[in-house]
Amino acid sequence: MLQDQEAHAAEMERTFIAIKPDGVQRGLISEIVSRFERKGYKLVAIKLIVPSKEFAQKHYHDLKDRPFFNGLCDFLSSGPVLAMVWEGEGVIKYGRKLIGATDPQKSEPGTIRGDLAVVVGRNIIHGSDGLETAKDEIALWFEPKELVSYTSNVEKWVYGVN
Ligand code: UDP
Ligand code: MG
Repeated sequence: MLQDQEAHAAEMERTFIAIKPDGVQRGLISEIVSRFERKGYKLVAIKLIVPSKEFAQKHYHDLKDRPFFNGLCDFLSSGPVLAMVWEGEGVIKYGRKLIGATDPQKSEPGTIRGDLAVVVGRNIIHGSDGLETAKDEIALWFEPKELVSYTSNVEKWVYGVN
């Protein structure tokens, strides 16, 4: 029904998710992508890139005064990162739930970090922490033409919208 469609469209969000060099090197791409895919979220952009240190500093600019900032930026730029944009209702907040707490020692079992990582400095994945951050991070990592617009065939089953 039209009304449902409009309500559904209004709730749609996009978030930036990245598998960091440790996750890529450990062969966890398919495991992590499948968790977002099986949940019902829609992949709208994906690419494998090695960011420069300057780029990593831009991505983590909010953390520039933290003691771990330099090491973090060295690490993010040390190898391939799988950069993605995922779309869905509530995907920003729930994506962070799927990811788990920043420190894997505190992440719940069943979350990506809880199941697959052990220490905070190698916690394998990044996810935007809010609407504005998501917009900024998507714009930093992707050009508008890299965001693919398409109708997902499973959407009507995931959301119950006609
Ligand atoms: N980090 C770290 N040591 C810390 C806190 C954070 O190395 O004490 C790293 C960790 O890789 C984390 C990233 O810095 O994912 C960004 O920190 P933030 O607080 O934004 O955590 P996130 O949003 O990734 O959960
Ligand atoms: Mg963060």
